[in-house]
Amino acid sequence: SGETSDLPFWDELLEKDRKYVWHHMSPHNENPMIVASGEGSWVTDVAGNRYLDGMSGLWCVNVGHGRKEIAEAAAEQMMKLAYSTMVQSHSPAIELAAKINEWLDGDYRIFFSNSGSDANEVAFKIARQYHHQNGKPTKHKFISRHRAYHGNSMGALGATGQAQRKLKYEPLGVGFQHVPPPYCYRCPFGQTQGNCSLQCAKAIEDTIVWEGADSVAGVIMEPVITGGGMIVPPDEYLQTVRRICDKYEVLLIVDEVICGFGRSGEKFGHLNYGVRPDIVTMAKGMTSAYSPLSATAVSAELYESFRNNQEPTSHLRHINTFGGNPVSCVVALKNIEILESENLVARSAAIGNAFKDGLKPLLSHPHVGEIRIFGSAMGIELVEDVKTKQPAMAERVVKIIAACKQKGLLVGKNGDTVPGYANILTLSPPFSSTDEDIRFIVDTLLAVFDVNEEKG
Ligand code: PMP
Repeated sequence: SGETSDLPFWDELLEKDRKYVWHHMSPHNENPMIVASGEGSWVTDVAGNRYLDGMSGLWCVNVGHGRKEIAEAAAEQMMKLAYSTMVQSHSPAIELAAKINEWLDGDYRIFFSNSGSDANEVAFKIARQYHHQNGKPTKHKFISRHRAYHGNSMGALGATGQAQRKLKYEPLGVGFQHVPPPYCYRCPFGQTQGNCSLQCAKAIEDTIVWEGADSVAGVIMEPVITGGGMIVPPDEYLQTVRRICDKYEVLLIVDEVICGFGRSGEKFGHLNYGVRPDIVTMAKGMTSAYSPLSATAVSAELYESFRNNQEPTSHLRHINTFGGNPVSCVVALKNIEILESENLVARSAAIGNAFKDGLKPLLSHPHVGEIRIFGSAMGIELVEDVKTKQPAMAERVVKIIAACKQKGLLVGKNGDTVPGYANILTLSPPFSSTDEDIRFIVDTLLAVFDVNEEKG
């Protein structure tokens, strides 16, 4: 209309956005950043402002933005074969399943879906059906941790251990029990770090025993709780959980949706701890989010128990339209090729080390309780007071995030130490970030914390 013709086009976009778009998460975002393009670790909004994408979107654009080789591979595949069901097969899915096995350094069969939530739902169904068909039909419950996030669908949300994400959507999938996380900074068992007997792992055993081992199908956990506030367990935790699972014939499902494909500084997060899961779920970093795709990797032993079952109803009754889409599989293959050829898993570990070194001055800041790093993922736990560890007030967290953005750095907030607001700043930049990019992140954080301090 005549009235809007003088407005820059982004004002018109914003108007339309307010009229038509319901944004993810709350509160309602009436003033969203409208992102126009990305190159490497940087994104540019419609007004031309550049920001370093410190979270790689949602912990996912691991090879960085603007990879033409991925776009070209996708276009080529789209013209050749845009779609086939996974009742049949196609070479991109076959090659990708083989490549995932190589990265897992194990023997797994790969079931493709669309999202991390989907991949976890498939894991739950396979675990239940496996027990059902192998003489333990009452094993149906899953144990996960408080503060965990496993997705937004009713089962994955059931596994999630954050009340505020669940309360208004219940009843969710049933049969999910939660135990305290291995959160050493605020040990739920009152122990001190490095000087405990892993009561957090023992809680899993106690829960299995008290729920009845004959009722428990699986344990699901991330190697490190990421979205729940970068909670890094003691080194022996995951191996202890593996032993407990073996003792009670409980399957270990490891959610590698964030940690997988290099974020942890290893190919997969669990490889840092030397355990072999029964089921591994993965998504985000598999395609660096250039296209939606996820997978549930199932140990050959589990798969064989389905395959060798003579009952006509013994196959997995699960299908989804888009899972294993050939274009997404080709995107994943090209993404993994980049991770390999540019040595980006090692780069991810190096980024974490650069954070550790560069951010040392933050450790004596009066509002920094702890910095936790796993590969290139980092959580900075903000507190009101380092002695009492009272979580930082929402206002303080919001102010710091805004100050980072003002200086051109996008960071995340996660954790909800107090249910309802997050007091942990998170960063997980693209592995392809240059030394200059990483220096920019470190310098910006140091500057923001100093400025905030001066202003009280
Ligand atoms: N598991 C974990 C650990 C996640 O972080 C997420 C998403 N942040 C999911 C599962 C769900 O993935 P999606 O959003 O693709 O459904």
